[in-house]
Amino acid sequence: MNIALIAHDKKKTDMVNFTLAYSTILKNHTLYATGTTGEKINEATGLPIQRFESGPLGGDQQIGAKIATNEIDLVIFFRDPLTAQPHEPDISALMRLCDVYQIPLVTNLGGAEVMIRALDAGFFEWRNLQS
Ligand code: PGA
Repeated sequence: MNIALIAHDKKKTDMVNFTLAYSTILKNHTLYATGTTGEKINEATGLPIQRFESGPLGGDQQIGAKIATNEIDLVIFFRDPLTAQPHEPDISALMRLCDVYQIPLVTNLGGAEVMIRALDAGFFEWRNLQS
């Protein structure tokens, strides 16, 4: 599975802790991330990650483009609901594309834990069968 990981600044610690906790599952998948999120995950876990630009510099749009070309299967996006983001239109566009293409999207730690456990249990295998 191709998994996209994104975290706003105040959620990056959550993302690092999440990827550390579930690295044994994540290492079996291909990981993509926006620039700074990917850097922090890689530093903490050593997991290989294909990094795009930082979110405010176009990274969210790059991940959106991969969704549109059917190259992303799951999106874990830890949003900060309490801080205005300068690239809000890009964030909305990314989430919109997840809905257009029926790509599973979670936007907080609780959802991510459910998703990763479901992934590990084989819940998403139908996507492999489709492609
Ligand atoms: P970043 O981008 O990983 O480069 O910080 C995330 C975002 O703000 O969308």
